[in-house]
Amino acid sequence: MSYGVEIIDATPKWIEIPFISIYLVYGSRDVLIDTGVKSSSEKVIKILSGRDFEELDYVLTHIHIDHVSGLGYLHERFRGNVYLHPRAVRHVSNPSKLWGSAKEALGEFAELYGEPKAVDEMYLVPVSDGMIVPVGGELMFMYTPGHASHHISIFHKDSNGLFVGDSAGIYIEDYGYVIPTTIYPCRLDLYLSSLRRMRMLKPSILYYAHYGFSEDGWRSLDALYNTLLEWGKAARDLDNVEEFKSYIISNDEVFRGIYSRLDDYPLAKLLVDLAIKGVFEEVNRDPGVVG
Ligand SMILES: [Zn+2]
Repeated sequence: MSYGVEIIDATPKWIEIPFISIYLVYGSRDVLIDTGVKSSSEKVIKILSGRDFEELDYVLTHIHIDHVSGLGYLHERFRGNVYLHPRAVRHVSNPSKLWGSAKEALGEFAELYGEPKAVDEMYLVPVSDGMIVPVGGELMFMYTPGHASHHISIFHKDSNGLFVGDSAGIYIEDYGYVIPTTIYPCRLDLYLSSLRRMRMLKPSILYYAHYGFSEDGWRSLDALYNTLLEWGKAARDLDNVEEFKSYIISNDEVFRGIYSRLDDYPLAKLLVDLAIKGVFEEVNRDPGVVG
């Protein structure tokens, strides 16, 4: 990949399909966007070893376990600043609560990802909305709540690209399709307004955490936004989440094709089901959210 951005596959072996992408961004200070999980950290350390750096900075898009549980392990090998949302600081320096809620939400999958290791607070740098730092060339942080209240996206000036974490869906390259990451519980109103804010930057490239990058840039944001409006309007007229899921499967041919392949990938299926539930519950909480 050009523009000084390198994609690293941080999927642990047990997932079997490419699922977690993290990004190494070059600059006078190199920086890693997200870290993958404990069970992929050895692989990532191997990839990063032998490069021309001994120190590395980090950015966390948010602190869900699949983005952060590798951090403490990588940080032991490559020290550096960790840029993150202010509300994430205490959970990274003491991940016990984070680990507890991951186990509750994901069950056995949390154990497979692996328990996060604390990082000393002296390395943690809380960022504000709009803050610019001279690492990885130049990065600008943008608060993008919705998927998580503490989510940030990162604009990379050199590539006119945006690291979207989980704020802009799961990108399925084979289908050119983006599945919502409205994992229950979410805030759909904030999710949609974050999409609108990211759209205003007109990024040429979107770097997804799941999975890979899209050179359709802002058009992929539009596509997801439209999917969510359609889904949301349908959910308003339906009685329960199962009916809603059936509606999507029968009305969206591309989604149907993707969903039919998920039986072999229980984690992916769980996340997609939770995203559908997230939309349904939010539209029932506030029917006006989709206009
Ligand atoms: Zn994720």
